[in-house]
Amino acid sequence: MTAWDTCALCPRLCRSACPVASGSGREASVPATIAWVLREWEHGRVSEGDARRVATLCTDCGACQTHCHIHEPLPERLRRVRAALIPFVEPQPIGEVEGDGEHVVVEVDERPVATWLAASVGRDVRRLVTSDHLGAVQMHHRAFESHRDVLAQRLGREASVVVTDGRVARVLRSAGIAFRWLHQVVTLPTDPIVGSCASPGERPMACCGGAEPLRSHHPEDARRVGERFGQRAVTSTYADGACASHLRECGLQVVDVVEVLRQEVGA
Ligand code: SF4
Ligand code: SF4
Repeated sequence: MTAWDTCALCPRLCRSACPVASGSGREASVPATIAWVLREWEHGRVSEGDARRVATLCTDCGACQTHCHIHEPLPERLRRVRAALIPFVEPQPIGEVEGDGEHVVVEVDERPVATWLAASVGRDVRRLVTSDHLGAVQMHHRAFESHRDVLAQRLGREASVVVTDGRVARVLRSAGIAFRWLHQVVTLPTDPIVGSCASPGERPMACCGGAEPLRSHHPEDARRVGERFGQRAVTSTYADGACASHLRECGLQVVDVVEVLRQEVGA
């Protein structure tokens, strides 16, 4: 018996709930198939490379567990095996929070969101700049713990941490740090906003394919999932900049709320 047996021998009941299985159309990405391959790997009948390939056909969305008749903790199991199969790369050091003000915006690219938010709300806003989404790709490794501790020291006591990217949101959640999305701290003139799978919201599928580890390890599958997601999406403004950039790469005309804010303040 291995921990994978229940899923490996399951008649693929969560298949349609999994965005990677339904979006990519690949049999290898069906949760039960992934479990089967990892079971074979534990028995020494499949190579480590093949195990890594299937374990990363996932966006860690949790839909399989939610829709499972027995709520099998497959996502957590996949996280653990990925931590063992993917080499740890030291994340960038966490920077200092800069400036004054109540809100702290975590900035993930060259766009000065804190400056634009300050212009919109008429008050100073602080920023924490990260070039690697707070090390999100490494967040399930045991070695990430010390990184999480530093993050908790920097942001753990802040009253208002503001995010614009789901990768950052996942890291903050894993460190127990409360946060709000940009559109929750400023009123923006826009159509309904699609929430992030990093925070439960109304979405046409559990994930658009823009989340890790799928996006880094299987870009072609991530693109197919995004195209499928786009066929079902009914609105074009996204809370999560990672979703918006991924869907643009998939050819969709979408924006994130940072772009709406930029236009609002005339930047
Ligand atoms: S998570 Fe549940 S439904 Fe999905 S493969 Fe495992 S046992 Fe089957
Ligand atoms: S966590 Fe999401 S992407 Fe990963 S196997 Fe489950 S349903 Fe599929």
